[in-house]
Amino acid sequence: MRLTPLDPWLVERMGLSELRPEDVSAWQLRELRATLAWAKAASPFHARRLANVDPADLRGPDDLARLPRMTAADLATPGLLAVSQDGVARVVSLRTSGSSGPPKRLLFTEADLARTLEFFVVGMATLARQGDTALVLLPSRRDLGVADLLSRALPHLGARAVHPAEGWTPADLPALISDQGVSVLVAAPAQLRTLLDQAGTSSVCRACLRTVLSSGEPLSLGLRVQVESAWGCEVFDHWGMTESGYGGGVECFAHSGYHLREADLLVEVADPATGRPLPPGQTGEILLTTLGPRALPLVRHQTGDAARWLLGPCPCGSALRRLGPVQGRLGPGGAGVTQPAKGQGRP
Ligand SMILES: [Zn+2]
Repeated sequence: MRLTPLDPWLVERMGLSELRPEDVSAWQLRELRATLAWAKAASPFHARRLANVDPADLRGPDDLARLPRMTAADLATPGLLAVSQDGVARVVSLRTSGSSGPPKRLLFTEADLARTLEFFVVGMATLARQGDTALVLLPSRRDLGVADLLSRALPHLGARAVHPAEGWTPADLPALISDQGVSVLVAAPAQLRTLLDQAGTSSVCRACLRTVLSSGEPLSLGLRVQVESAWGCEVFDHWGMTESGYGGGVECFAHSGYHLREADLLVEVADPATGRPLPPGQTGEILLTTLGPRALPLVRHQTGDAARWLLGPCPCGSALRRLGPVQGRLGPGGAGVTQPAKGQGRP
C-alpha cells in the first residue's frame, strides 16, 4: 500500500532523517517552546495568559496540561492578534451555532495561507495526479479562500480545478462533470448526498470520477459506502476547520483515520474536564495549538469536537499517530458527546 504523502513532506519540513513518533514529538515540543516565546512577545492576549509560563519548562507532552486552554470566546479578543492589521491578508467571520454573541473572526497572514497551500498540495497528492481535473464545490473561490487555495494547489500536481458558475444548482453538475472530464470531486457531505439523490447523476459520476474528497463536515460511514458503491470511486475524508487554517488532516489509502499536518499544528485529544492529554482509544476533546508565527496564535484551543487517537500504526506504513473520525460535539462544560458534529467553522 502506498505510504501517505504527508510522511515524506514531514521528514523534509522537520529536517528529520526518519519519522519516528518520538522524534516528531520532540520536534513539536521544541517548536512549541519557540512558538510560545514568540506569542508572549507578539500577542497581548498570550502575554497576559502565559505570564507565569516559562516555555523552557515544558519537557514533555504531559506538560501541555499546564498551559491554559482557549475557548471560542477568546478568538474574539482583540489582543489575540499577533501581527499588525496591515499584515492581515484574509478575514473569516463565523457565527457559532446556538450563540447570540458576536461572530468569531479569524485572521490570516499571507504566510499563514502559504502554509495551508503547501499542505493542500501534499494532501491532494493522495487523491489527485497529473492530468486530473478536480471539480471543487467548497466555498470561497476567491481571495485566498478554501476553493481558491485548492485551485492554486492542484497545478503543483499537474492537475487543475474547475468550479461551477455563480448561482449554480446541483442540476448543473452532471453536464459540467462530463464536459470538463472531471475525475476528482471535492465536496461537503451534504453536497454528496444531494448529488446521490439527484436522478441521472450517478451514471455520469460513475463514468468520470475516480476519487472524491469529502470535507467541511464529518462524513458518515453510510454516505461513504453509498458514494463508493453508486459512483465506483474511492472516497477520502479530510478533517480541518477554519481555526486550523482550513487544512488539518487527510486519510491515506488505508482510510484509517487522518494523517495530520504535524509540522503546523499540535493536535491533542484531552479530557474535557481536566485538560489532560488522553491516550489512544479514549475519546476526548480535540485541542489545537498552532506552531510557528501566525496572525492568531492558538494555544490549546478547545474545538468542542470529540474524537480519539487510533490504536497502532497505519496499514500504509506510517508510524505516526492518526486521529479518528470526529464523533460529535461536546456539550456545555465538556460533558459527553451530546449532538452530531456540525459544519460550523469548517471549510
Ligand atoms: Zn496511512
